[in-house]
Amino acid sequence: MSPYEHGEVFVTDDGAETDLDLGHYERFTDESLTKNSSVTSGKIYQSVIEKERRGDYLGKTVQVIPHITNEIKEKIYSFENTDVDIVITELGGTVGDMEGLAFIEAIRQIGLEIPKEDVIYIHVTLLPYIYGSNELKSKPTQHSVKELQSFGIKPDILVCRSELEMTDDMKAKIALFCNVRKECVIQNLTADNLYAVPLMLEEEGLAKAVCEHLHLEKKTPNNKEWEKMIENIRNIGNETVKIAIVGKYVRLEDSYLSVAESLRHGGYANNVNVDIKYIDSETITEENVDEILKDVQGIVVPGGFGNRGIQGKINAIKYVRENNIPFLGICLGMQMAVVEFIRNVCGLEDVDSEEFSPNCKNPVIHIMDTQKNIENKGGTMRLGAYPCILKEGSLAKKLYKKDEISERHRHRYEFNNDYREIVEKNGLKISGTSPDGLLVEMVEYEKHPYFIAGQFHPEFKSRPDRPQPLFVGLVEAAKKCKR
Ligand code: GLN
Repeated sequence: MSPYEHGEVFVTDDGAETDLDLGHYERFTDESLTKNSSVTSGKIYQSVIEKERRGDYLGKTVQVIPHITNEIKEKIYSFENTDVDIVITELGGTVGDMEGLAFIEAIRQIGLEIPKEDVIYIHVTLLPYIYGSNELKSKPTQHSVKELQSFGIKPDILVCRSELEMTDDMKAKIALFCNVRKECVIQNLTADNLYAVPLMLEEEGLAKAVCEHLHLEKKTPNNKEWEKMIENIRNIGNETVKIAIVGKYVRLEDSYLSVAESLRHGGYANNVNVDIKYIDSETITEENVDEILKDVQGIVVPGGFGNRGIQGKINAIKYVRENNIPFLGICLGMQMAVVEFIRNVCGLEDVDSEEFSPNCKNPVIHIMDTQKNIENKGGTMRLGAYPCILKEGSLAKKLYKKDEISERHRHRYEFNNDYREIVEKNGLKISGTSPDGLLVEMVEYEKHPYFIAGQFHPEFKSRPDRPQPLFVGLVEAAKKCKR
């Protein structure tokens, strides 16, 4: 998935590299998802081809139907006999997309295989808003329902994405034309805050319609805490801190979606709005860095791959280090903080990461031992959650309030232990390591109000009501940083 086209790659605890939607699911449900929660056509085909090569289908012709569709169904049914009560299966894309056809056929079959009251089809549609005439159009919804019905699926509920309140008449019209009950036409308005959406849907009666259809007892939901959170967010007022994300994929903001969400969560915890300034690291030179960063009260240098824009990140890190501006480095951001520090504070020459200069004299970031003999690039990085032990008296420990943490990784390179002594002697403290002490997982600069970085991606575990400590700390420090 190219960050430019598809947005960020979200990583689960068990090391699956997934679509960014999984991040939303985690943030909304506060559940850590797994590999089983992410299915792609590639995974389905790979598994069918492996089974065929192994001889599982001996004597049979292997086809999209039933082999591919069965494989998809198996994924959905795989939660049977677990503690899962309800499987929510989201099909991405638009009805009629070539990529989605086998998936649609699979869920159609499921509707016939299990008891009728155990399955419900919810169709999310768009009601385009025509600005000139100030109206919503229902035609595209009618057409996509028609398309869905041509595949043999009759939606039970329509969730209508809309920029404008739907009138009662419009709901009635859609119900009539799309063959659903009126109380099953659910409006899904653009919210003032993303996290208010579940409350809006509750008000619209989505849960009621679902429970009725599934013959579940409708209990009064307890959304108290979530409501309180939304109220607090709405009461934040005008105070705003400006924090920059300095990366090379800024052309598409979705590339840093979880980082941006985590910054907002950090804002909620500190009762301030966070204004995110996306800066293309390729544009930052030593000469213009002051001009570009003069109005920000903190920066994040997020993860990334490849050489482009690297020097700009280093220029930005040097600037914030020297000017006491709060800094959070994530994965590549930590690696670049180490390179910058060893070049400019420790004074060594020809310092780099092996990823960018394989033959430099001081490869302060080098390929991990576990990565040395790996040939395939796909899915072979150090992936998923790993424990990290925090050092007594460190800023990291103060923020996390714990001795041991668990954060998610996605990288091939790491801090080269030959340089531990020189960085620590110069004030860059190694504040987190793997439990065996061999891998450097966190660094922090002591002579600075907030300069901290991790080899992991803290943004994947932040939740609106349980903000990630490194982001809370960054926003708190940014609040104090007067520019
Ligand atoms: N490119 C670096 C590595 O592979 C950093 C990866 C990242 O930032 N996720 O180690």
